[in-house]
Amino acid sequence: MGKVLTGVKPTGTLTLGNYIGVLKNLASYQEDNECYIFIADLHALTLPIDPELLRKNSIDIACFYLAAGLDPKKSVLFLQSSVSEHSELAIILQNYLYMGELSRMTQFKDKASKEKEEGIGLGLFTYPVLMASDILLYDCEVVPVGEDQVQHVELCRDVANRFNKRYGKTFVVPKAEVSKVGKRIMSLSDPTKKMSKSDPKGDIYLLDDEKTIRKKIMSAVTDLGNEVKYDPENKPGISNLLTIYAALKDISIEEAEKEFVGTNYGTFKGAVADTVIAQIVPFQERYRKILESKEYEKVLREGAQKAKAQAKNTLARVQKAVGLLDVKEK
Ligand code: ATP
Ligand code: MG
Repeated sequence: MGKVLTGVKPTGTLTLGNYIGVLKNLASYQEDNECYIFIADLHALTLPIDPELLRKNSIDIACFYLAAGLDPKKSVLFLQSSVSEHSELAIILQNYLYMGELSRMTQFKDKASKEKEEGIGLGLFTYPVLMASDILLYDCEVVPVGEDQVQHVELCRDVANRFNKRYGKTFVVPKAEVSKVGKRIMSLSDPTKKMSKSDPKGDIYLLDDEKTIRKKIMSAVTDLGNEVKYDPENKPGISNLLTIYAALKDISIEEAEKEFVGTNYGTFKGAVADTVIAQIVPFQERYRKILESKEYEKVLREGAQKAKAQAKNTLARVQKAVGLLDVKEK
């Protein structure tokens, strides 16, 4: 069994992009892998967020994971802030990543460009340091992410290799795994931009009702012409909808294309809406039951204990490697 780690920031209601990029693949991952799944609440603080909203989003994400089929007997679900080793390792690791590397990160450039200079906290800049700590604490071989996070995982590999070279093998060097279909779901209103929970334009939210979902898909920006064809360069809107359709149906893009030969955009959009609704509505029902029963509380509490048991071993290894003295009681 391989070890796998994945996380989502509680910055907003999850989108169809998060569902296809991460949630949907979870149930099958946990059959063959030991999964560590965390809610990246410390990462959510890297941009201003209302405390009530942060709490609500964190609970929602726990419920979403459970609704997506996370089995607490097989997988460990926890809050990043409940396992203090994440922060402790980040303080050490920050010394092995460089200003130049961090300033080249696309996410930093994107998010910082939307803020005023005085609104860009240091945490937004050092985000990949904490993310590298999240990953390295669990000795994971594989990190399933959407395409947007590949750059951060690459940086994590660099720092792990750098550290291992200097101090001897301390970290398992992880690799990013991007799903074949649905690695990057685009905004429905601007298919050249990624669908992102903190940028509400063109999103489908996992708590949108049936009517809203249909309306959003039917009014998605499409391209000139009337042929349902995958061509991201010239037909980004239609290609995005084909990706959504294929990912949800677990078929290839070519198979999806074949289903719509000779139809028109309207028929195609209707079929995409039906497919999204058919998966999201039952998912929402499961989410509501879990939220009401509060079963997530116990799952998060026990998850934190299990995660900590693993994280503290890795941290101790790192502290020893760099020369921090251990004077704890034996
Ligand atoms: P934010 O706007 O706050 O950055 P986000 O929607 O990008 O939100 P994250 O919490 O940054 O979500 O990412 C959670 C996971 O979802 C990551 O693995 C990321 O790669 C994946 N993901 C995010 N957006 C998409 C997308 N549009 N398509 C596929 N996967 C995505
Ligand atoms: Mg993101």
